[in-house]
Amino acid sequence: MIPITIFEGKKVAVFGLGGSGLATLEALAAGGAQLFAYDDREASREKAAEIEGVEICDLQSADWSQFAALVLSPGVPLTHPEPHWSVKLAKEAGVEVIGDIELFCRERRASGIDAPFIAITGTNGKSTTTALITHLLTEAGLDVQMGGNIGTPVLALEPLAAERIYVIEVSSYQIDLAPGINPSIGVLMNISADHLDRHGDLMNYARIKSRLVASSDQAVVALDDRLSANIASNLRLKGVPVTTISGFGNERAMVAAPDGILQSMQGDFLFNLDQARALRGTHNAQNAAAAIAVARQFDLPPSVLVAGLKSFGGLEHRMEEVGHQDGILFINDSKATNADATSRALASFPKLHWILGGLPKAGGISSLVDYFGRIEHAYLIGEASEEFAATLAASRVPFSFCGHMDLALERAINACKNAGPRTDKEDHVILLSPACASFDQFPNFMKRGDIFREAVQHYLSTGAVAVDPDHHAPEDAAPKALASEEQ
Ligand code: ADP
Repeated sequence: MIPITIFEGKKVAVFGLGGSGLATLEALAAGGAQLFAYDDREASREKAAEIEGVEICDLQSADWSQFAALVLSPGVPLTHPEPHWSVKLAKEAGVEVIGDIELFCRERRASGIDAPFIAITGTNGKSTTTALITHLLTEAGLDVQMGGNIGTPVLALEPLAAERIYVIEVSSYQIDLAPGINPSIGVLMNISADHLDRHGDLMNYARIKSRLVASSDQAVVALDDRLSANIASNLRLKGVPVTTISGFGNERAMVAAPDGILQSMQGDFLFNLDQARALRGTHNAQNAAAAIAVARQFDLPPSVLVAGLKSFGGLEHRMEEVGHQDGILFINDSKATNADATSRALASFPKLHWILGGLPKAGGISSLVDYFGRIEHAYLIGEASEEFAATLAASRVPFSFCGHMDLALERAINACKNAGPRTDKEDHVILLSPACASFDQFPNFMKRGDIFREAVQHYLSTGAVAVDPDHHAPEDAAPKALASEEQ
């Protein structure tokens, strides 16, 4: 844990007591602050009450003039759709509203400035890039702590120490709550429309993201979308040192990947990404380019970087290879909860069997039509089935209604087996990339991916898919499935 001493002897309100809220309480308590905490959930309040120095307090009726700050959980609305009541009360009393990343930054400035702080943001690819940077630096023998939005709350990491490197994934919500964020290296991957319910509009969202790199000692920015490329140009004008990167062959980028060959403009680094099985696709080329741009700031020799790229295992649920047997490759991309993320997976394979569906997002899968020619068969699960079936049928993509995951997997395996070896001698690919939220059938995308992985592993070890009797196709599915399969 990183004790936060900058509020020693002061009274601080903390709202939102999930993982990062509890870690914040521990860190502030260890640094001698007096804490007043609240959460709507009773279980969270009970956990917080066990921390010494924390008083559970109805912040709605508290005297806000006593507080030096409100530390807000990033999940609680700061501005949109409208400020949470705790934010309104804090603002009325002139109390600043900050988050755990801000506490980390202030403590680092006060007593840990020799600890490098790498902050990664972007609409997509944050977690993969954060994990890859951590992997490269750790493999090089450096002292690395990884946390933030990717998992372990930043304040739950090991204490600040000279040369201890913090690799922190930062969401737009967290940047919004970190007015004084100032990484040693700030990384901006990409910007596309997302989370606009919380940030108002795309320009405001881009402005928030750009703040992370604008305040960095050095920035790494991808040029692959127009907003990020504009931000890179603006940073240059402001005199921020920028390393530009691209997942493609952008000739203005200082680290790029034309045709999947990752390379530096100086010509001193060259790597064929085909050798990194966990980094398939141009989106992962962008992630790899960002990680290499960061790792090069630590003067790591190219041989160490190459070894690290090859040994990177990837993250669970993001194009995760969960099985490979008898000419069938099984890929778990459960994290793809929207069509944009799924497009990266579809782009990575010339032919595939696609398991998709769940709770659909606005727009469904119609934006993926360019990839439909790659789909040998689609296996629909969850609430989106009818809607997605209509989109697939319009493009004459063969599909079946499967209801649940295990039936989808069983049908996909049977289809691959019945087809025999592919004429191009490549493996069959069975991809779970739902393009949907998971909540209609699973607690979250992690559980959805775990169930897929377990089902694949069960098949690989027994030769049979364990079809859960509770998980059968909806009764009305069979006739439609037959009809669709005839198309
Ligand atoms: P994040 O942490 O930003 O959500 P992840 O690394 O967890 O990003 O990847 C989430 C999904 O987004 C992946 O399943 C993949 O489909 C897609 N993705 C990963 N990296 C990128 C990228 N650089 N650009 C666009 N999409 C990406």
